[in-house]
Amino acid sequence: MIIAKTLAEFTEAYGKLEHKSDVGFVPTMGALHEGHISLVERSVGKCSHTIVSIFVNPTQFNNKQDLATYPRTLEADCELLEKSGVDIVFAPRVIDIYPEEDTRVFDMGGLDNYGEGPRRPGHFNGVVQVVTRLFDIVKPAFAFFGEKDFQQVAIIKYFVQKLGYPLQIVPCDIIREDDGLAKSSRNTLLTAAQREAAPHIYRTICKAKELRKSMTPQETIAELTKQIDANSELETEYIEIIDADSLTPIKNWSDSENVRLWCAVYARPVRLIDNIGL
Ligand code: AMP
Repeated sequence: MIIAKTLAEFTEAYGKLEHKSDVGFVPTMGALHEGHISLVERSVGKCSHTIVSIFVNPTQFNNKQDLATYPRTLEADCELLEKSGVDIVFAPRVIDIYPEEDTRVFDMGGLDNYGEGPRRPGHFNGVVQVVTRLFDIVKPAFAFFGEKDFQQVAIIKYFVQKLGYPLQIVPCDIIREDDGLAKSSRNTLLTAAQREAAPHIYRTICKAKELRKSMTPQETIAELTKQIDANSELETEYIEIIDADSLTPIKNWSDSENVRLWCAVYARPVRLIDNIGL
């Protein structure tokens, strides 16, 4: 496994790959856990080569404190990736990805109107900036993304089609802790009390499957919010029940055959997101 810490090092390592038309790519921000590794394993199983990027992308952080405290564990990450059969780890510097300021502004076709879009202004624009730049460098045939970031996968799929990238996006299931908490690099920032409270989020949102039999989507959201906020460590920022294709909220259960619930909950100052199919 080669660890490329500059674009020049990456270009050299990439040049030596035997099957350049069958590269699987897993973009990450590091602090890797089993969620990331599940994506890597999908890629290693499917593709001749696997490239993993580790880059904490400044343009997708709308909160300076979040960027400053984001965990960075490159050495441990590389050990995990080596064991998983990765060919190249691309851990570039900011100047390699943004040799000049990226001023591109993307029209998301309305896919950012709800969910994380309005709550994290500029976030998805930064995600599309970094992902398109990485696609241009890595030139993968397949790119693997976790449904943990449900809206992100939909937006990236949209841009792959719109911009004509010759690659396939492979969405991967959410990997959870035994207690149901979705694995996240940010979980390491929780206090012991918050970590104990955090599984309450997933346990509660799963109740929507039952509640939908007797409540409207709006009533379901109100009830789940009340139940999550009953835990003093947690504070719901939003819960939305959406059509998973258009990513817009539904008023009646019959409005969609592909219903998803997504949410963001604070265990301050950490912000946790999750989603489930209903
Ligand atoms: P990140 O490092 O947070 O940018 O995540 C890199 C990739 O790993 C993204 O495609 C995420 O959706 C995915 N990912 C993160 N956590 C999980 C998880 N618990 N299960 C599945 N995929 C995940």
